[in-house]
Amino acid sequence: RKVVLSGIQPSGFIHLGNYLGAVQNWVQLQHNPDIHERFYSIVDYHAITQKYVGASLDDTVTDESIDTLQQDPSPQELTLKTAATLLACGIDPSKSTLFVQSHVNAHTELMWFLSCLTPMSWLNKMIQYKEKKGGKGDNKTGLGLFSYPVLMAADILAYRATLVPVGEDQTQHLELAKDIAERYNRLFASGREFFPLPDKLSFEESPWVYNRVMSLQDASKKMSKSDPSKKSCINLIDDPEMIRLKIQKAKTDSLGKIKYDSLRPELQNLLHIYAALEGIDIAKVDQLFIDDNMASFKTKLANKIIDKICPIGEKAIKMCSNEEDRLLEILDKGAKQAQLRSEETMRQMKQLAGILRKG
Ligand code: ATP
Ligand code: MG
Repeated sequence: RKVVLSGIQPSGFIHLGNYLGAVQNWVQLQHNPDIHERFYSIVDYHAITQKYVGASLDDTVTDESIDTLQQDPSPQELTLKTAATLLACGIDPSKSTLFVQSHVNAHTELMWFLSCLTPMSWLNKMIQYKEKKGGKGDNKTGLGLFSYPVLMAADILAYRATLVPVGEDQTQHLELAKDIAERYNRLFASGREFFPLPDKLSFEESPWVYNRVMSLQDASKKMSKSDPSKKSCINLIDDPEMIRLKIQKAKTDSLGKIKYDSLRPELQNLLHIYAALEGIDIAKVDQLFIDDNMASFKTKLANKIIDKICPIGEKAIKMCSNEEDRLLEILDKGAKQAQLRSEETMRQMKQLAGILRKG
């Protein structure tokens, strides 16, 4: 039985990296007849590992940190906008279960159980924790940021998912989920695959899929919702002017000619984005811009992004302002389906692990 699960954090607006690395694959998977079930979750409990938890733990609250807290959209608003954007991208609630993580109990409950099986040394190896914690010491970093990968393992295992379409940055977390599943199976199911070992579903064979879109301001970092530099990512709900501006300001080199070259990582990233949006091979992209300079190439790239992305963003914004009730209804229905499936896993999981059943 093939079950797909994936998640996206409402830690900001869905950006081009999320779209090219994950969401467009979610949409494609809806047309794959080999797959029995698809669960797509807006993982709001993951999103709070960084935002206000981090801020309130920092007891030296500066004026600046108050500003950022006030300016940022609330978790509610981001969750709704994320749901609307996913629907606008083509997630179809009749083919996929779309739901909010905090609406379904099993995620946090299973997480607790799995936490007890997970050695801290496994979590100490997680690169994302080190990156996100940045220069902050342990007394200013929430426990949730450290245990985040266990919650992600619970997200996946609660549905006994077999396939997880994620970007390249999630590979290590997925490996951890596999190790945790294996450990449960060995300890409580005599090695039988009670939890199937989830596989990363990547689409590397398709030239137009990029599992790692880089920041427009720093080609050594991936494009991220939580990047404090607003110029570093293109959001699906950005308007055309904003997209033009961000591409114009995107960091590049001064070598003039447009040529695909691994020694020019900023340009390489922009060419990847073009190729991905156009659905063509990178070798072909190189030829398209043989007569261009950086400025004319950037104009063409901005136009391409506007063509492909803005219709999605406009649809999402319209949905948020005109159809909030319908959005909530879809999420409610999704949560009920997800609850049903994950409750059954929990019942069996607890039975195997010897936890007393409830009345
Ligand atoms: P945050 O910075 O808060 O972690 P994010 O931008 O990394 O946000 P997530 O919600 O953590 O977004 O990830 C959602 C999905 O998008 C995941 O499958 C992740 O692998 C994928 N993804 C995130 N960033 C990129 C990127 N730059 N390129 C390709 N895929 C990405
Ligand atoms: Mg992330």
